[in-house]
This record gives sequence, C-alpha cells and structure tokens, in this order.
Amino acid sequence: MTADDLTLFKKRLAEHGYQVTKAREATFKLLVSAEPQTIREILVKAQGVVDRVSVYRNVGVFEKIGLIHRVHIGWKYKLELSDEFVGHHHHLSCLKCGRVIDIEDEKHIDDFIKEVSAKFGFEPRRHQFEVDGYCKDCRS
Ligand SMILES: [Zn+2]
Ligand SMILES: [Zn+2]
Repeated sequence: MTADDLTLFKKRLAEHGYQVTKAREATFKLLVSAEPQTIREILVKAQGVVDRVSVYRNVGVFEKIGLIHRVHIGWKYKLELSDEFVGHHHHLSCLKCGRVIDIEDEKHIDDFIKEVSAKFGFEPRRHQFEVDGYCKDCRS
C-alpha cells in the first residue's frame, strides 16, 4: 500500500461525510492486496485487528461510496478495491477453485466497449467485464 492510497481513502471518506476511524483504516488495509477476496477471507485476516461486526459495516460503507466493488464469480462474489486504487482491469474467474486471474493488458476490451457505446451515442462511465469458467488446472 502506498501513502497515496491512504490519502485517497481518507479523502473519499471525508467527501461522503464519514469519519476516518482506526477500524475503518484497518479494514481498508486488509483490502489492499493483489487478489480479490471473499468476505470470509477478509474476516480471517481481520481476526485480532478489527471485530467482525465492524468489518461487515465498514465493507458496506466502502462499497456504498465506491471504494470497493464486487467481482462476481457464478452467484458468489469477491471484493476488490476500485479502479482508482488498483487500475482498471478485468477478470477470468474459475468456478471450481475460485482463482481470479487479472487481465490488465487487454486494451481491446475497453476499445470494444467504447466502440459499441459510440454506436449508440452512449457515454460510458463504468463497466465490469468478467469471464467465468475453468482455469488451466481445473479443466482436466
Ligand atoms: Zn481453477
Ligand atoms: Zn474495461
């Protein structure tokens, strides 16, 4: 995590009228990682740092104000920091082992979205592009 991440986090909370508490800051730090996480995984990491109820509540606040978003895998989901923290990217999610592969260099996906939007005179602001399936190890 960079100092900038923390600054941006505090700024966004303040903008939405939320105070920066120790529990909120600690919860945010648990979310700063490369891989999207389930709420269960976050709760395990939070043990001894932030209590369960606070984790649930803080995650709810973070989601509401757009600091994090859901990455859907089948009918379940994982949580990940929003684009302004981790950079815009897409995912390939394995339905069997739950592995989530980040795809970051596939600019043509975004070009395609721009192209389709332009065709309808639509101004795209946000999108998610997720692919569910089976990873290399789970395919056999
Ligand atoms: Zn897999
Ligand atoms: Zn995209």
